[in-house]
Amino acid sequence: MYIEVLTQTILKKEDQTFTYFVPDNLASKIKIGVRVKIPFGKTIIEGFVMKINITPDFDKNKIKEIIGITDEEPVLNEEMLLLGKNMSDKLLCSLVSCYQAMLPKALKAEVNTSIKIKYDKYLKRIKSIEEIDNYIENCKYDSQIELLCKLKEGDIPISKVTSSIKTIIKNGLAEINYEENKRYKYMGISNYKKVKLTLEQEKVANTIISSFNIPKTFLLYGVTGSGKTEVYMNIIEETLKLNKEAIMLVPEISLTPQIVGKFISRFGNVVAVLHSKLSDAERYDEYRKITDGEVKIVIGTRSAIFVPFTNIGVIIIDEEHTSSYKQENNPRYNAKDIAIWRSKYHNCPVVMGSATPSLESFARAGNNVYELLTLTKRAQNMTLPVVNVVDMKEEVKKGNFILSEILKKKIKEKLDKKEQIILLLNRRGYSSIISCRDCGNTEKCPKCDIAYTYHKSSNTLKCHYCSSSKMPNTKCSICGSTNIKDYGLGTEKLEEELFKLYDARIVRMDVDTTSKKGQHQKIIDDFGEHKYDILIGTQMIAKGLDFPSVTLVGVVSADSSLTAPDYRASENIFQLLSQVSGRAGRGENKGEVIIQTFNPSHYSIALAKEHNYLKFYREEMKIRKLLKYSPYYYMVLVKITTKDYDLGFKEADKVSNYLKNNVNIETIILGPSMASMFKVNNIYHYQIIVKYRKDDKLKEALKFVNNVYKQNSKVNIEIDFDPIRI
Ligand code: ADP
Ligand code: ZN
Ligand code: ZN
Repeated sequence: MYIEVLTQTILKKEDQTFTYFVPDNLASKIKIGVRVKIPFGKTIIEGFVMKINITPDFDKNKIKEIIGITDEEPVLNEEMLLLGKNMSDKLLCSLVSCYQAMLPKALKAEVNTSIKIKYDKYLKRIKSIEEIDNYIENCKYDSQIELLCKLKEGDIPISKVTSSIKTIIKNGLAEINYEENKRYKYMGISNYKKVKLTLEQEKVANTIISSFNIPKTFLLYGVTGSGKTEVYMNIIEETLKLNKEAIMLVPEISLTPQIVGKFISRFGNVVAVLHSKLSDAERYDEYRKITDGEVKIVIGTRSAIFVPFTNIGVIIIDEEHTSSYKQENNPRYNAKDIAIWRSKYHNCPVVMGSATPSLESFARAGNNVYELLTLTKRAQNMTLPVVNVVDMKEEVKKGNFILSEILKKKIKEKLDKKEQIILLLNRRGYSSIISCRDCGNTEKCPKCDIAYTYHKSSNTLKCHYCSSSKMPNTKCSICGSTNIKDYGLGTEKLEEELFKLYDARIVRMDVDTTSKKGQHQKIIDDFGEHKYDILIGTQMIAKGLDFPSVTLVGVVSADSSLTAPDYRASENIFQLLSQVSGRAGRGENKGEVIIQTFNPSHYSIALAKEHNYLKFYREEMKIRKLLKYSPYYYMVLVKITTKDYDLGFKEADKVSNYLKNNVNIETIILGPSMASMFKVNNIYHYQIIVKYRKDDKLKEALKFVNNVYKQNSKVNIEIDFDPIRI
């Protein structure tokens, strides 16, 4: 039999399908969607079987034979095969990259993975108790007798096969059995109890439940603490009653360990968890719980949207505004789009929830593309916290560079009352830049041309873009002066300052303190048990945390995100401030929030203070309309990357001209320009921005340029539809 195999070769991103021969003894085992090992040049690679029983239209003697079949059952089912084609067509990326993105590492088409199923060994009795007793009577060896007595009570887990075990087996009394051991265990703490839904929550849940079997998208806009998680769990419970499955996406599991705890407490072992902090082996095991039909609920991050459930009842996307649902390398898919595609395939609803919906989603709800559902009240009569905005320009005059008068006072007050505090500072490390007082030179990463961040705990300068690091110089590399000073503020410096000011138990949570497995969960659990008074962190503490005794949230600097060169900067800061404010006052005591900023009158800060999402939405939409940005215009980002500065500009210019001449006249083509991160790791990034409302020629034009550069080894092109940042 001849088959067609899809593989990824070393050549450029292009899809390659090749014809191979399958000998008769293997032919019955070949199915579409299984992986096969094939000879390729001088190496052996793996690929997916795409077509079987084909008739080659060229010399059959040139066709090589497959080396082996990796899987008994297809790793790509019918739905996945179809979805991959759709993605590849929409995103202009290779088909094989789409299939690879859907699978955990252990099931991707690549040889040499060492991820194996783990088995536990058991010794199992295969003779009757009487026969065992007879044997014991005549046995002289204590170790055998001991084993046999245990065997009478049940199976014995064993790690190695001792000589007594060997003898028992040889004498036909017992045998070794193997059982799969799925490695992931949730280790967090949860004291979750099921609650009765409020009337408002019940209404929302019922609307969704009455649309089960309809491929419809709901936008659940509910203020922080309104009990969206409770609504999700209620809907999922109904799904399970229908014997259907549920997918729940969360931005980043390590950011929301509490949600996983709640789900496991409520639903028990029908929950699988998939996120980036799992090892490849653990992820493989969780994935097999799905393919083996052991679980009905998956809670996971972006790629969990691809899990091969076959009877999906509902897909939930929590914190739908989060940028992490978009993958930032090929295939550049958005999990929200995949969710909608799958909802049509399975005839089930999608529920996207947020306290601060993305402008795109809220606009779609306004146009009735999505159905809007609203939760206006916090559960348990909790009120939204009072937000104070402090003008740091005034504070600096008084000599308060890090903490304002009022924030210092409030921290003291809460510590005295034994209440907890969360402080957000969206910059890790100690200080933001180190520069020379005499000549103004700033130490920059030579590969990225971006200032290093000083990390005091490790005494290193780190580049936050390429992760390289080096020892700080004691002298300026330009003028030799020793008058070097650090500016700006990072979480490390904030922690140091707090230790100076207060006698408190402080814990810091950022990329640097959570790089090891389990560290993140531990910080959350310890803070939840009030082993610490103050939690300091970057944006990773803003989302999802639910600690009733937190009564004060301080945003130490709201400005760094505001000045980012991105049209979504205002939206991002509004969302961040609203989310982090939502962490305060979730218990019996009222919450307070203090935001420190140099731009107190900026509308996104002023409106976050008022908790006024709707007004923010209207203001921001006016600006988007004026500047012709999303959601008024669709956008495509064409990125041209190369190691050669001049060639990059030349080629980017060609692409831009080609597009200008080959798309609709109303479509706007901007650039080429230098990307905001122009040089990263010695690679130059140029970009062209396309804005359009309707353009039936654009897709073809983009496809054309994409194809041209597939063959080019010096210049790389990437096309990003609906980019998250530009
Ligand atoms: P959100 O996800 O909307 O921010 P959560 O689901 O975290 O809100 O709920 C906030 C808090 O209110 C949680 O501690 C939750 O247990 C509690 N809560 C939610 N709904 C109810 C309810 N109907 N009755 C009692 N407590 C509730
Ligand atoms: Zn200098
Ligand atoms: Zn760098």
